[in-house]
Amino acid sequence: MSWVSGTQALLNVTADSLAEYCGLTGDQQQNPLSLERQLALLQRNPSHVVINSEFAAKYLPTLVDAYNAQDAAFSVPMRMLNTIGYLPYFARFLSTPAGSSMCATQAHRMVTASSDSVDPTCIVEECQFLSTLLALQGTNAVSDEDRQALLPKLRQWNRTYQKQQITRCLRQLEGDSETTAIARGLKKHVECSLNECGFEDCANTGTSKLLQCARCKTAVYCNRDHQKKAWSLHKTTCFPTVF
Ligand SMILES: [Zn+2]
Ligand SMILES: [Zn+2]
Repeated sequence: MSWVSGTQALLNVTADSLAEYCGLTGDQQQNPLSLERQLALLQRNPSHVVINSEFAAKYLPTLVDAYNAQDAAFSVPMRMLNTIGYLPYFARFLSTPAGSSMCATQAHRMVTASSDSVDPTCIVEECQFLSTLLALQGTNAVSDEDRQALLPKLRQWNRTYQKQQITRCLRQLEGDSETTAIARGLKKHVECSLNECGFEDCANTGTSKLLQCARCKTAVYCNRDHQKKAWSLHKTTCFPTVF
């Protein structure tokens, strides 16, 4: 890609441009610098949830394949997964067979990664991602062996860098009760649309069977009426899902 076309492309952040810089489409070359610039722009974009949702619906399985193909604890696919970790699309993917071992995988990589490539930015990202996975999949997803090996590493990083993402990850793995409660709250929030009627004025409690939005599979409703009433809000983040 020429410098000029690369620069123009950077101005416009879309689900497809993110996929391209993650190496999922086009010439399948990862472009970490362009991805960082796009993510910085995306943060300031009021539609970032919409763009991230479209990306997740369309590319999550491919992104996870790319993540699985890496050995390092920090990688371009991991960076992108970390930015969409708050979405119900991500939570739902974790409940599919392809997503079921992600927490164990990330923890294992953080144990086995060589300690000579110590970039604090990467370590913070790794810890933030593992923290999300620990919240969503539970601390028992990590093997005892990896937990025992990871704890001293996290304590060392925590002392050296003093970053809240590292501290949170460490406390989760230690089973600290306050941090565990916060993690439980995060899980509930991220999975809310998968488990509770998406109509905001819904007064139904009970556990009757909920209808799933057939398009995105990340929203559920008591009945068609509530689905219809919620549509004007839901439609902005509802994308056809390939998983
Ligand atoms: Zn309802
Ligand atoms: Zn939907």
